[in-house]
Amino acid sequence: MVETNQHIIVHGDQMVCLDPGGHKVFNKLFKQMSSIGPLRNIKYIFFSHQDPDIVAAANGWLMTTDAKGFLPAVWMKFITHFGVDTMVIDRITPIKDEGMVIDLNGCPLKVIPAHFLHSPGNYHIYDPISKILYSGDLGASVDAEIVVVEDFDHHIQFMEGFHKRYMPSTKALKMWVNTARELDIETIAPQHGSLFKGREMVNRFIDWIDSLECGVDLMGDRFLIPE
Ligand code: FE
Repeated sequence: MVETNQHIIVHGDQMVCLDPGGHKVFNKLFKQMSSIGPLRNIKYIFFSHQDPDIVAAANGWLMTTDAKGFLPAVWMKFITHFGVDTMVIDRITPIKDEGMVIDLNGCPLKVIPAHFLHSPGNYHIYDPISKILYSGDLGASVDAEIVVVEDFDHHIQFMEGFHKRYMPSTKALKMWVNTARELDIETIAPQHGSLFKGREMVNRFIDWIDSLECGVDLMGDRFLIPE
């Protein structure tokens, strides 16, 4: 099972959970969130895209809390296949392609488009107060076994294979780089693996993405027919 990070943003007495994960982490996360504040403080649940490690427990979250969900509009008709009941589906707001701002108790969280990184309908969240960018699958690392990246060059081996195979388009990476350079980012927090903390490390990561080729751009001109 791929390990996932669950991120919580708290502002005053309101909380948002970013990509709550699947059934196997539901109980544990539920307990941890209750230790931060009462469940009625969970105002929003954000689903960055449609993958099972993000939306599989969506029904549980919507049934046990009063939170509103946010999901990319292009995935709205698919989430019911994960068992989201008709009685709670209206609590999910579809996020249009251009993104949006979610008001968390006065903190304007920017829901920034990051389409095709890797999902066709995909968003990152920038918190302008903590200056943390939640980057979903972008920046994901596997088996690095550290919470915060200390040696960027050493860390590349834990990210490279995933990014080259799962990220479909170099153009989408470049679009993200151009947007990320406009933001004042102190930390990049992905959905899997280690965090990039401090401006120097954040810039190393942005530069690495800028230099990367991925997905279809690494493929030839045809698919080979298996013998
Ligand atoms: Fe994913």
